[in-house]
Amino acid sequence: VEASYKRIEETDESVGAFLGLNKEDALKAARETDEKGIDPDNILSGLPIGIKDNILTKDVVTTAASKMLEDFVPVYDATVVEKLKAVGMITIGKLNMDEFAMGGSTENSAYKLTRNPWDLNKVPGGSSGGSAAAVAAGQVPVSLGSDTGGSVREPAAFTGLVGVKPTYGRVSRYGLIAFGSSLDQIGPFTRTVKDNALVLNAISGYDSKDSTSYHGETTDFTEGIDKGVKGLRIGVPKEYYNEDAKEDGVIKAVREALDLYEKMGAEIVEVSLPHSKYGIPAYYIIASSEASSNLQRFDGIRYGYRSENVESLEDIYVKSRSEGFGLEVKRRIMLGTFSLSSGFYDAHFKKAAQARTLIRNDFDKVFKEVDVLVAPTTTTTAFDIGGKIDDPLAMYMSDILTVPVNLAGVPSLSVPCGFSNDMPVGMQIIGKHFDEQMMYRVAYAFE
Ligand code: GLN
Repeated sequence: VEASYKRIEETDESVGAFLGLNKEDALKAARETDEKGIDPDNILSGLPIGIKDNILTKDVVTTAASKMLEDFVPVYDATVVEKLKAVGMITIGKLNMDEFAMGGSTENSAYKLTRNPWDLNKVPGGSSGGSAAAVAAGQVPVSLGSDTGGSVREPAAFTGLVGVKPTYGRVSRYGLIAFGSSLDQIGPFTRTVKDNALVLNAISGYDSKDSTSYHGETTDFTEGIDKGVKGLRIGVPKEYYNEDAKEDGVIKAVREALDLYEKMGAEIVEVSLPHSKYGIPAYYIIASSEASSNLQRFDGIRYGYRSENVESLEDIYVKSRSEGFGLEVKRRIMLGTFSLSSGFYDAHFKKAAQARTLIRNDFDKVFKEVDVLVAPTTTTTAFDIGGKIDDPLAMYMSDILTVPVNLAGVPSLSVPCGFSNDMPVGMQIIGKHFDEQMMYRVAYAFE
């Protein structure tokens, strides 16, 4: 824990990963662990971890990188934080992100810019950019992020890390500040595949406080991780390999990885996910609709930011929300309320929900033929700071390869598979619902 804080002191002025540190409490917890001795059955005990700032931490300010929650101190821990504490991990601070997890570059934070440790002029990805940058800069061995449409996998790809979006329902969302409730999942960032499986072991499991939590038995995600890929069928969804994409180094690196899998005895099978092309419009309508509903609670009354110069109740609502929310959050609220409004519901929200079913059916169908799917995580490597921030559509398009996974609810892992333009490339390994074991096994064989 001390080494973590030292490294943060040395590097965070240039990287900007952390929004806040809880140094006193963390050092106290570390000393207590030293006194008790590390739990031999528990490999994670005593290890420092950073937490994305949309995950509630008791008595530690949690802002979701929004001015709306500038002084918000939660009175309880998210279930994942409780679980980390139960295995003896020590939360050392809160990590920067796009406001309310809306974005793909961490440039939408109300507080600060986070830079990519590989090249400080580039974004670390988003929305969990702080979580990615902190691990990539060696500040913490592990962090947690959240992934609604790619926010763990995209930053993991941009910073050369392993990042996982578990099956929807695998990890409790209790205490995660909601964005798109039918899509959100919390997932770990680590340097290696096995570390990642160990952390998922710790944070997953049934939780009666999340009505969408999965009731199945607990799984050890490291079990069978070293079985290799011999005899497995790896699906290559042809729509995810756009050869005339701007940065062909990305597809090249993933194709080389596929060659390696073939040499290791896997069978590479071309498959089709024809409805993935509706992923971006369906995702942005569904996620924004759910967000517009979830964000209604920030009304300037119950908690959070309240505008000072108000004259009426309506003024409190209007001014608090106008001043408390940033531009991108407002854009999503407008898009969401419009899509849900009675005159446009059938044309927009309902259509998007139907497209979502088609996308999910595509996955169900190909998973009858193959064990996992392999594709690039993103179409490019990390882009320049400022490169897309004025062009929301260009920013949305950077999620084209990650959002279908959230719409279908399946698990997916991004693992580094090479370099393009001197920046790390991420390869996505997509599994069947609740088959994270297979996903980790295939990733481990490559690593
Ligand atoms: N970039 C996507 C968005 O802006 C995904 C965000 C996320 O997964 N939280 O909605």
